[in-house]
Amino acid sequence: MVWAARQREIGVVTEIPIPHDPNFLRKGMVALVGAGPGDPDLLTVAALKALWAADVVVHDALVSPLILALIPAGCEVISAGKRGGNPDSTHQADICDTLVALAQANRRVVRLKGGDPFVFGRGGEEASRLAEEGIPFRIVPGLTAGIAGPAYAGIPITHRLVNANVAFVTGHESAENSGFRLGEAEQDGSRVDWETIAQTFPVLVLYMAMKNLASVSQRLMAGGRSAETPVALIQWATTPEQRTLVTTLGRVVQDVASCDLKPPVIIVIGEVVRYREALAWFADVTVQPGG
Ligand code: SAH
Repeated sequence: MVWAARQREIGVVTEIPIPHDPNFLRKGMVALVGAGPGDPDLLTVAALKALWAADVVVHDALVSPLILALIPAGCEVISAGKRGGNPDSTHQADICDTLVALAQANRRVVRLKGGDPFVFGRGGEEASRLAEEGIPFRIVPGLTAGIAGPAYAGIPITHRLVNANVAFVTGHESAENSGFRLGEAEQDGSRVDWETIAQTFPVLVLYMAMKNLASVSQRLMAGGRSAETPVALIQWATTPEQRTLVTTLGRVVQDVASCDLKPPVIIVIGEVVRYREALAWFADVTVQPGG
């Protein structure tokens, strides 16, 4: 891992005083905690309190190493990330079983998830299971990648001169990365009406959209969006590994193929992307097509 070196290079701060509040997470309780997109500075005070109080942390593959490094020594850490790169619904059930078993064993449990636990993160399912089992829980919201990611790329997702709304949409790439998966009926992503979205929302923020990028960009253009619409792809946003590619709807597929961008990637589509040119402030890497 080159994290530590890059971190020093670009000055990411990780020495955060952790507030100690033993009552934040009682024995036999689960906190579903959003870890934010990666930069430890974006953890909430509540997330830090939960981590400090925990005696076991069950985390996703999407939680960055910089955040995992903040888990106090002596706390048990269970990785519930991708299993052989191919998690399925049984895996999700296993995670819920694990949370239930740990809580029933009277542990103080943190379920640590990337971004916000209720944004494309299956936090809803996990909370429902805990509620069914009568296990006390709390939700600690986190900064979602679709908000913090563009901000770190110098892209305001709303701008008074551009848009009065913004859509957060799943492109359903997820099986590999996040454990997120649509229900049986929506396995092909057909729940998303891209043509209507193209016409309704000036700015789109796409999660898990790398795998289906060709069909998504095609359908947005079929729905009336110009091939010249600016598109930004932000890989590992807010971390020392952040890399940003700016392209257009018409060129995005070929440019991505030439750039080797790897998930997790958040995608912003719309005129707000143009502000990056003036507003890029974070020392991320701007990726050139072919590079
Ligand atoms: N609960 C998370 C989203 C989980 S879905 C949140 O609120 O952010 C997984 C998708 O989130 C990834 O495929 C990617 O599109 C996006 N994502 C999460 N973290 C990211 C990061 N650091 N950089 C870029 N994209 C990220």
